[in-house]
Amino acid sequence: MPSNIVLLGPPGAGKGTVAKELSARLAVPHISTGDMLREAVREGTPLGLKAKAVMDSGGLVSDELLTGIVKERLAKADCAPGFLLDGYPRNLSQADILDGILRDIGRDGVRAVELDVADDVIVSRLGSRRSCPSCGAVYNLVSTPPKSPGVCDKCGAGLVQRDDDKESVIRERLRVYHEKTAPLSDRFRQRGSLLTVPGDRSPAEVLSAVERAIG
Ligand code: AMP
Repeated sequence: MPSNIVLLGPPGAGKGTVAKELSARLAVPHISTGDMLREAVREGTPLGLKAKAVMDSGGLVSDELLTGIVKERLAKADCAPGFLLDGYPRNLSQADILDGILRDIGRDGVRAVELDVADDVIVSRLGSRRSCPSCGAVYNLVSTPPKSPGVCDKCGAGLVQRDDDKESVIRERLRVYHEKTAPLSDRFRQRGSLLTVPGDRSPAEVLSAVERAIG
């Protein structure tokens, strides 16, 4: 059975970290709409130009801008054995759109894995997150620091704090999460396809809990 998995949880819950490891173990692609949008911003594509201001303010980019890129990505051959979607769907209408995309391209439905983390843990985690603007690697100054301060282990570029990881923007992202994204859990729960895992542990512990949950 394909591992079609959607990762749910607030920004900073560790979805990207879990997805990177799990994607290697399950041999399925990690598809992060946040990463795709950041790449579009870096490259200055029409999508990136439209998305940048909304992303910087902590809001959600419009569903229309995302549907095409998500559909195109899920239709690629490497998604046939499964995929890990990170950051999509982000609201109930995107969940409906995703059902339609999967039907259109003839792929199975998804299971959702939710990483459960309290807001105060998120605020302190995201405040200490640093990212590599060049290769996209992510560090946490407390739990997973780079080997030399301020420098990416993988490519040597200088690390930065994402504009949307500043505290005022984090608070706005959490507000948007509770209003728009959290209701998705009930939707997946009602369909019997929600697995909830505590996300306030070390990355290795969260990964094994997710692996146990998906079986
Ligand atoms: P992330 O890296 O998943 O936290 O995404 C960073 C930002 O990209 C979000 O705060 C949104 O502005 C935007 N974004 C990512 N995925 C979506 C989505 N599915 N729908 C709308 N906006 C998104």
